[in-house]
Amino acid sequence: MVNEKMRRLGANRSVIRDLFEYANARRKEIGAENVFDFSLGNPSVPTHEDVTARMISLLQNQPPASLHGYTSAPGAAEVRQAIAAYIANAYSAECSPELIYLTCGAAAALVCALSALLCAEDEAVVFAPFFPEYRVFIENTGAKLVCVPCKEPDFSIDFTSFSKAVTNKTRVVIVNSPNNPTGKVITEEELKTLCAILKQKEREYGAPIYLISDEPYREIVYGNVFVPYVPRYYNNAAVCYSFSKSLSLPGERIGYISVSPRAQNAAAVFEAICGAGRAHGYVCAPSLLQFTVAECLGKTADFSSYKINRDLLYSYLCETGYDCVRPDGAFYLFVKALEKDAKAFSERAKKYELILVPSDDFYYPGYVRISYCVPIDTVRRSLPAFKALMEDYAREKR
Ligand code: PLP
Repeated sequence: MVNEKMRRLGANRSVIRDLFEYANARRKEIGAENVFDFSLGNPSVPTHEDVTARMISLLQNQPPASLHGYTSAPGAAEVRQAIAAYIANAYSAECSPELIYLTCGAAAALVCALSALLCAEDEAVVFAPFFPEYRVFIENTGAKLVCVPCKEPDFSIDFTSFSKAVTNKTRVVIVNSPNNPTGKVITEEELKTLCAILKQKEREYGAPIYLISDEPYREIVYGNVFVPYVPRYYNNAAVCYSFSKSLSLPGERIGYISVSPRAQNAAAVFEAICGAGRAHGYVCAPSLLQFTVAECLGKTADFSSYKINRDLLYSYLCETGYDCVRPDGAFYLFVKALEKDAKAFSERAKKYELILVPSDDFYYPGYVRISYCVPIDTVRRSLPAFKALMEDYAREKR
């Protein structure tokens, strides 16, 4: 009667959503101030003031037909031009407006890029833990997801496993740095090693392997952390960028794909991306948002509260005896569960009104993700709950 594959996808809500719903119910029962909800990656800080000003000015001054009308499918020409110029200038990378495709956030960018590059039976390599939608997007093309677990304790890339995982069926590799859920940033040295392996594999198999860089957290880094720009290190690259987190606009749905002009068959790859957008009925990215972000490139929301939250949580949890991955970016802290089963640990955390996402949801066992894009006060007030949870487990050991 219906497409069973789609029904299953729709019916199986993600654990993150379930936890969020649970937190909502608890808020009603005991008051919002008593629930420490670290489930969702929904930015808590307002967008940049220029975004609001630009939107108002567009709404007041732009003729409706050009403001609210369809743009061309890959995006308005002047917006693509502005993005290409920004990339060339900010990253000293070659970039062509002809190879920029505006999308509804990174999710749609990934769907289009993966659908453009993958056929049934192909393989796409991802590093675990990973954003769970990768599996949905990859498997929807008929391709197979090949998972390479990162190395503990720092969640760096395991190059021996990676090298084994790349076969003559590998068409795509996805990197996500700064990372959801670990907060890890891939170093320049790591990226160079990864690219060297890929180039060697391309030569061995005589076919391109495309490296997709999923970058919704590019600008969210703490201290002087350098986030290398992938297309500068590898020709067969495409960047899937989003303004969801950089400008705190996740519900507005705006992002883009940038295919490197140096990529093999770049024009054909781009055409396939346009075809994928068409096949998924995306038509064009929201025009008001296209014209807004074009004027706000390089600007970001104020991330200072994320930095305060990261410092507070990381230092307090480490002092209390938790094993944490130090996050250099994004707004997630990855913490080792106090028992083998991360789901059981997340359940027990609920006793203390702590809502933590078990890492199984990110295809990695034994950890929880704390999403700290929440008000600073929530983090401060949650600290005794983390201590009580630790003491709960300590009592058990005695
Ligand atoms: N990729 C990663 C790693 C993410 O964490 C997210 C959202 O949280 C996305 C992609 C999707 O982002 P967007 O809201 O821009 O579609």
